[in-house]
Amino acid sequence: MVSKAVKCTTCRIRQAVYYRRESGEKLCLQCLEKSIVRQVKHEINKWKMLEPHDTIGFLIPIETLLISIPAFKIMFIIERKYATKLFLIKPKELKGIVPDVEKVVEYQLPRRPKTIIELLRLERVEAAKISNKHGINKIIVPHTLEFEATYFLMNILEFNFEALSDLNPKIYSEKYGVFFTKPFRKVKSYEILLYGYLKGLLSEVHFSSIISKYFTFNNCCKLGKYLDYIVTLGKGHFELLISTLKMSELFIEKILPEYGFRRSCLLCGALVKNRLCNVCSTLYFNA
Ligand SMILES: [Zn+2]
Ligand SMILES: [Zn+2]
Repeated sequence: MVSKAVKCTTCRIRQAVYYRRESGEKLCLQCLEKSIVRQVKHEINKWKMLEPHDTIGFLIPIETLLISIPAFKIMFIIERKYATKLFLIKPKELKGIVPDVEKVVEYQLPRRPKTIIELLRLERVEAAKISNKHGINKIIVPHTLEFEATYFLMNILEFNFEALSDLNPKIYSEKYGVFFTKPFRKVKSYEILLYGYLKGLLSEVHFSSIISKYFTFNNCCKLGKYLDYIVTLGKGHFELLISTLKMSELFIEKILPEYGFRRSCLLCGALVKNRLCNVCSTLYFNA
């Protein structure tokens, strides 16, 4: 937040509400929205994430519930420019959000995940399953920059290479014929939350029941420890977060295949050595 007298450096008319430290911009709410829309569109074009006539499902993942609400609003703005259909895919337990959406489908996890990796993969499989029934061919996962950087850091430090392909900007579930894409991967969590807060989008959301049902120390607090570090690092050196994301791309493209991760898990789409990942083979083997 910046003081009342300051004007937006983009439109030079409206009052600025946000100081973007790494660029020196001071933005009003409208220009902040435009800037986020631009970042997301850029990522969509770069990775060819969406095409006209796609049926899109916007996933509300349990690990980024709060961010998902304003991210959906941004996607709603962008989607009008494509000839697409937009569904909201939300956890069954999440109540009281986004009243003006017509097409809502619900997913439910088969059990409480033990780790964050398990959480991400169970969500993908359950979202893909339900999407397949509604003709959805692309699923947007609204993970933001800090989440992606944290997930990379945590798994690199724990030498858990098998988890790294969850960071892929595009993931394919062969069994359900669905692509997962992450157009918000370069958006800062703080910016999208500030936008959602100032737009009044976050007041209607009730999280407690879903959080108590799915979160455990292992799957959330452990990530939280690394997240604190990433957020602190990003404040002083934003460029390091972007470099971290670049490094994850390099790992997926060059290094994981060297370690034998050359195929995609049939169900969740993570890069694997065999046909199914650890999570899917334990949980869905007999399905
Ligand atoms: Zn402005
Ligand atoms: Zn899998």
